[in-house]
Amino acid sequence: MSKDLTTIVDFNYSLIADFFKHLNRQGPGSLQVTKQALSYIDNLSQVKNMADIGCGTGTQTLTLATNTNAHITAIDLIPEMIEVMDTRIVDAGMSDRITTIVGSMDNLPFEESLLDLMWAEGSIYGIGYERGMNEWHKYLKTGGYIAVSEATWFTNERPAEIEEFWNENYPEIDTAPVKIRQMQDAGYTPVAYFKLPEYTWIDCFFKEMPPVAKDFLTRNGNNETAKIFIEMVEHEESLYMKYKEYYGYGFYIGKKI
Ligand code: SAH
Repeated sequence: MSKDLTTIVDFNYSLIADFFKHLNRQGPGSLQVTKQALSYIDNLSQVKNMADIGCGTGTQTLTLATNTNAHITAIDLIPEMIEVMDTRIVDAGMSDRITTIVGSMDNLPFEESLLDLMWAEGSIYGIGYERGMNEWHKYLKTGGYIAVSEATWFTNERPAEIEEFWNENYPEIDTAPVKIRQMQDAGYTPVAYFKLPEYTWIDCFFKEMPPVAKDFLTRNGNNETAKIFIEMVEHEESLYMKYKEYYGYGFYIGKKI
């Protein structure tokens, strides 16, 4: 593997999109996990205004639309993700329930105190968990909820190889008690935390990749950058399989005070 291109931030968005938009999910998660997170929200039937931030191609957005009465504004930075999602929304007959926006999570287009629920599965890293918790707070009504999944250490000590990987990719990864404290300090009552089961990585995320990787390489004429990209993705999978007792994703649900 090249020493120059080792993390996803080294690749341009169109290459990232050209791989990830062909997957159902762009991160670990599942229908059951989204429903479990929803189960911690009191008076869910009263939730009217909702945002799904870093929605990707929208698998969890469709689950949210099916399991709530809310209108959902779904936002992603990468236009190709939103294009795929728009087609899926039409196919699912959900056009009146979901509005999509190409935009950035550091400049959200919401009025203050408007939202009942803010959702971000595997995406708050784009702004950083602590910054997201603090900056998004103003968009929620008092008593509104935030629900995010986020990279989490499951142990206090970790092998050096995996520490180094995360320090390069997302140094804000931390243990659940730290994340819960940050949530509370940002002005929410922590309501629930749970660890995403391993199948949400292995079966719902990694398993889809081999045929997508094959097509991706063909489409890109097996060029060097495309090969390095796939090596990086495969490297991430092998690290997960080796170190999954030390890290994964946690779901964090909080209620605005
Ligand atoms: N929620 C989806 C996608 C997770 S991948 C799922 O669970 O499958 C993370 C997504 O966040 C990507 O689609 C990426 O384009 C988006 N993203 C990253 N940084 C962002 C930013 N600053 N603003 C908006 N979206 C961002």
